[in-house]
Amino acid sequence: MSSLFPTYARWEVEPVKAEGSYLIDKKDKKYLDFTSGIGVCNLGHQPETVKEAVQQQLELYWHVSNLFPQIIQEEAAKILADTTGLDRVFFANSGAEANEGAIKLARKATGRTKIITFEKSFHGRTFATMAATGQDKIKEGYGNMLETFVYVPFNDIPALEKEMSTDVAAVMLEVIQGEGGIHVAAEDFLLEVQKLCKKHGSLFIIDEIQTGIGRTGKPFAFQHFNLHPDIVTVAKGLGSGLPIGAVVGSEKLGSYFGPGSHGSTFGGNPISISAAIATMDTIFVDEFLQTVVKNGEYLKELLQNGLKNVPIVKDIRGLGLMVGVELDIPVGGLLKDLREEGLLSLPAGEKVLRLLPPLNATKEQMNEAVHIIQKVMEKSYITA
Ligand code: PLP
Repeated sequence: MSSLFPTYARWEVEPVKAEGSYLIDKKDKKYLDFTSGIGVCNLGHQPETVKEAVQQQLELYWHVSNLFPQIIQEEAAKILADTTGLDRVFFANSGAEANEGAIKLARKATGRTKIITFEKSFHGRTFATMAATGQDKIKEGYGNMLETFVYVPFNDIPALEKEMSTDVAAVMLEVIQGEGGIHVAAEDFLLEVQKLCKKHGSLFIIDEIQTGIGRTGKPFAFQHFNLHPDIVTVAKGLGSGLPIGAVVGSEKLGSYFGPGSHGSTFGGNPISISAAIATMDTIFVDEFLQTVVKNGEYLKELLQNGLKNVPIVKDIRGLGLMVGVELDIPVGGLLKDLREEGLLSLPAGEKVLRLLPPLNATKEQMNEAVHIIQKVMEKSYITA
């Protein structure tokens, strides 16, 4: 019997090694990994530049605590600040912890408590971020939620207008709702959120935990639009697999996170920070990001052509290399069939197949993935 809490319905694949876009399991079966550890290993498994940076830091020091100034944290913070157009960074260990920090900062800086989030959103599993999440299934059995949050339908400007007032501390959203089903925010909606936040003195928080670090072909997904958020939260891809999260905020918020106001023993751990610097140095490069855009279009086109005669496919959408294929059946069985054929992929919501390939996956690997999806769908999901 397992000694672990059964919080995860684990797959039948037990990994023993992973390199680049591939993973090898205990039975020596090789899989093409289009999960990237759920949007974390954006440079594939064990990227050389990140490995070298981590190895170098391992030889210097592993952990000293945030009692000490650490130049390596300053370096990582500067890259995040410069890239987002913001000014201040707090390092945490995960996405939920980054969002938790953003929620605290917004409440403290505005002196208000109401925060608007969206239906089908996902912001984490801590008490505040679970409450922020617009999905009932995440909250089942945990009793009363934090009353700070109000949920509005995504992309619905009139519904948002109704809830906006000078009582609102912040509006928090994902530019593409990842866990909720790859729902892309409309440009006019995003611009209206920004306008309404300005009008009411509310902060605009963008959760870039799944969409950030190059996933959509820009360093951060909000940069596809003319947006200037007050707070951006980052995690997942930031450390290429080493745990790290960050709250990135504007200068005007700086004084609200003064000494003793917030903290984390492991936040800004130098090993994770070294991974983050190497990751960002590799991804935040125009040529690299342009390839993500091109390959994202290539992948979507392959899917559109390959699956056009599959009746269960309702829609193919996404940005860059964050792609969803909406089905009219639950996706669980398909994911298992794809694994049997050697492709690892993810669900998003109940009926969406989510593909998050490494950002440096080759066109051949995308051909391979779509070939498997097409083969499996045609074999099992088209009734003659
Ligand atoms: N926010 C978004 C948009 C996410 O996709 C996730 C994780 O899937 C989180 C927050 C929570 O991140 P973590 O699991 O690192 O706490």
